[in-house]
Amino acid sequence: MTKVVLDRFAAIVGDAHAVRDPDDIAPYLIEPRGLYHGNSPMVLKPGSVDEVSKILATATETGTPLVPQAGNTGHTGGQVPLEGESQVIVSLSRLNRIRNVDPTGNTMTVEAGCILEDIHKAANEVERLFPLSLGSQGTCQIGGNLSTNAGGIAVLAYGNTRQLCLGLEVVLPTGEIWNGLRSLKKDNTGYDLRDLFIGAEGTLGIITAAVIKLLPIPVGHQVAIAGLDSPDQALALLNKAERKCGHALTGFELMPRIGMEFTTTHIPGNRDPLQENYDWYVLIDISSSQSEEAADIMMQGIMEEAFSDGIIKDAVIAQSESQRAAFWNLREMMPDSQKPEGSSIKHDVSVPIAAIPDFMTRADRAVRAAMPDARIVAFGHMGDGNIHYNITQPKGVTPAAFLARRHEINEIVYEIVLEMGGSISAEHGIGQMKRDKLAAIRQPIEIELMQRIKAAFDPAGIMNPGKVINTPGKPLPH
Ligand code: FAD
Repeated sequence: MTKVVLDRFAAIVGDAHAVRDPDDIAPYLIEPRGLYHGNSPMVLKPGSVDEVSKILATATETGTPLVPQAGNTGHTGGQVPLEGESQVIVSLSRLNRIRNVDPTGNTMTVEAGCILEDIHKAANEVERLFPLSLGSQGTCQIGGNLSTNAGGIAVLAYGNTRQLCLGLEVVLPTGEIWNGLRSLKKDNTGYDLRDLFIGAEGTLGIITAAVIKLLPIPVGHQVAIAGLDSPDQALALLNKAERKCGHALTGFELMPRIGMEFTTTHIPGNRDPLQENYDWYVLIDISSSQSEEAADIMMQGIMEEAFSDGIIKDAVIAQSESQRAAFWNLREMMPDSQKPEGSSIKHDVSVPIAAIPDFMTRADRAVRAAMPDARIVAFGHMGDGNIHYNITQPKGVTPAAFLARRHEINEIVYEIVLEMGGSISAEHGIGQMKRDKLAAIRQPIEIELMQRIKAAFDPAGIMNPGKVINTPGKPLPH
């Protein structure tokens, strides 16, 4: 990439917003897990949609590959430039205005760089809820959430990011601006362009703003943790909870004993709320539009019935808001609590909900056959069929020796997932991590259709090349 081209980009945003110093660029080149590390000669930080448009038009004209980056919390390396390539990073963090809040229509128009937690606060100020909730919400940005179609802990009740978005503003690789900032719940007019950009991981264009849905804040809220013997019993509990409280069921998270041990051992302030140890735990979250009491009564009803049916062995219902937060902390800290135990091989997978117990049995058996001392920490959003099937390194094995078998273990788990009609990426996307796997598992016609869409939007192949799918007509960058 020539200095002349870089100078043209810098002139668009101004020198102060065109980062060239390698020390300042370094944090943009690596993602939180440290799995991917790339190269880039420049980070551009546009301050307006017009600047984004000029950057993309210049990139198409000069054939410069661009990598959009938001909060850099993505788990599949989509936001990191490719190693050995020269790709310019476009950081959306300066596009962070809330353009409009409409509590009557229950919508908010936000720019792509708004941090998710700031959106929560702005919604709260008008007594509304934006229900997308992730462990990374203090850092991730709505543009990143839309581009990965993020899930999180409240999908069961509110859907994933796609279901929470009404309209988009997108800059296309040519520099053209598509203003699709509509706030309609019903709009059956032709192909749904919005849904193409959601989950596209920056391969079709740059999202600059969105109209998102707001909801009433639930009046009552209750959380409980139950101890049980098996994922089969967790499934029976899920069915019971759904039957008894319908849409009021906002979270249903499965956790194994080993995860409870890790999180209570390594995360200060966490403690097991139950007197005895159980093989499995379920966290249930219930919201009520009526009252605190209504949420509490529903929770008690579920737990009492589940106990007398022999589905659960014990349960504790939170007695205060701080206890509710403490229960959730046990679950949310589970990925972090694996770190002091060594390295992990992780799988963000989904299977049909009724197949979860069978999936657990088959995957555990196959992984243990290959690696007898594997410490399996399988937890997650059971109500969405989404399990984070993580494996912590066996004791006495070096991280390098363990991670050298990552590909082999991935294949074992993915094979079972696919046999059961599941997905190899439930909520984290494809990025660079699963690009080749996606190409291998999808029908050729599906990959070809994706490539045709990519070519229609991005004929020069400048948008996040080497992510999600390969660029038609070009060899894979690695
Ligand atoms: P980035 O990581 O910066 O980017 C993600 C992708 O979007 C990249 O491909 C990038 O090129 C593209 N992109 C970013 N902005 C734009 C834009 N404006 N236009 C076009 N493309 C763009 N994910 C879940 O789904 N559920 C969870 O529960 C969850 N929990 C997490 C907890 C922790 C502690 C961490 C660290 C991560 C978690 N994640 C979770 C993963 C991650 O936070 C989400 O994928 C999030 O949506 C990424 O947002 P981001 O702003 O960090 O985007």
